[in-house]
Amino acid sequence: MPVGVNCIYCGGSTSGVRRGEHVIPEALGGTRTLRCVCGSCNGEFSVLDKELCSRSPLSIVVQQELGTESAMLWDYNEEYGIALEARILRGFLAPVLWPQLVLLGPKTLFLFDQEEAESVGLEDYAKAFYNLIQRSTEKWLTQSKGIIWERIRQPPIRGRFPPRFFSPHEYADWKRGMTFICRYLDPIEREQIVHAVRRWKPVIRRSTKATSLGVLDPEALLSFQQDLILRALVKIGLNLLAYVISPTDVNSTTFPSATKYARWGTTGMPNPENNGFVTDHTLSESHCPTDAHKFELVYSNQLWRLVAVFFGGRIGICVRFPGPQITEYVRYGIVAPVKSKDWTVEKSEVYLPSRPISTLWDDLSVMIPSMPIRYRGSEKRVEQRRLRK
Ligand SMILES: [Zn+2]
Repeated sequence: MPVGVNCIYCGGSTSGVRRGEHVIPEALGGTRTLRCVCGSCNGEFSVLDKELCSRSPLSIVVQQELGTESAMLWDYNEEYGIALEARILRGFLAPVLWPQLVLLGPKTLFLFDQEEAESVGLEDYAKAFYNLIQRSTEKWLTQSKGIIWERIRQPPIRGRFPPRFFSPHEYADWKRGMTFICRYLDPIEREQIVHAVRRWKPVIRRSTKATSLGVLDPEALLSFQQDLILRALVKIGLNLLAYVISPTDVNSTTFPSATKYARWGTTGMPNPENNGFVTDHTLSESHCPTDAHKFELVYSNQLWRLVAVFFGGRIGICVRFPGPQITEYVRYGIVAPVKSKDWTVEKSEVYLPSRPISTLWDDLSVMIPSMPIRYRGSEKRVEQRRLRK
C-alpha cells in the first residue's frame, strides 16, 4: 500500500494507520486488514461489529464456535420451574449451565454442570466456588466492588427468574478476585441478597439432580438493531471489494451512498424486507467449507449483492448496496477460513442469474438450522441521524 492513500470511507488521511481495519471483523476470526481505512472510521465501525458479532443471531453461533460471550442464553430447570444461566458449547445442542447460586426464597440452590464438577470432584468444585463467592461478597460489603448487578428487562419466556449469582467462567478459568454477576428481574435489596449468599454453605448430595443437561430448547435473548446489522454488512461488502479490487477504485467517490450508509446509516438504507438473514435453503446451497466464511459479491444493475455465510454455512446474511462495476468481473467468491490468512478469491466475468434469496429477521429455526433455540425478537429502531461537525 503506497503511503498517502486516503481513507476509502471518509477521504481522510491514513498516514497514522498501523494495524488497519479488519476486512471481516476480528470477532468472527477475521485476520486480514486494510490500511486504507483511517483510525477514526475504524473506531466508529466498532459499534457495528459489536452489534453484528455479539448481539445479533450471529452471536449465538460465534459463542458456540469461538467460545466468546454474547447473547443472554438460558436453560430451563423442570424441577424448580426456573430459567438458568447457560452457555452453548461447540458440538453440543443442549446448553451447559454456568455454576450459579439461585436465591429461591429461603432456599439457595447451587446449580452447575455435573460433568464439569465431577471432572474436578464435586466437593473440591463446590468448595472452590464457595471460597470465591465469599471473597466476592466480602469485597462488595467492604469496597462496593466484586459484584456486577444486572437487572434484566426482558425475562425469559419460560420459567421464573429468581435472583442468581454466577460467573461466566469454566472451572479452569476460576481465579481469586473473580467478579460475580447478580442477575435479577424485580428490584432487590442488595444488602439482603448478599447476606443470603453469605449464609449459603455447599451441601453436596450425590443423588442431587443439580443439572438439567439435555434440555433441547434453550432460549436466547437477542436485542439488536436491524440497521446496524445492515450497515455492518455493507461495510464488510465494501471492505471485501477494496480487498479484491483496489482501494483507489473503491472509495467515497465511487461508492458515495454505500460509504455514507456504512458511516451514518442515513442515505441508501437497504430495505430490511429483502435484506437480512438468509434461510436454510441459501445456507445449504452456499457450499461453504467447514471452519470458513464464504462471501459472494455479485454485480447487477448498479447494485452489488453480498451474501455472507459464516462458520461453514451455519448462518448467513444478504445485503445489497449501490455502486459501480469497476472491473470486468461481475462476481467475486471469497473463502476466508476462520483465524487464517489463507483466503481464496474466485472471479468471474459471467453473470449467472441466481435464484432470488429470501431473507428474514425473526425465525432462528430457519436462520440457524443447526441449532434449535427459542427467540425473543429484535428491536427495529433506526438510528438517529448524526450530524457532521
Ligand atoms: Zn475515514
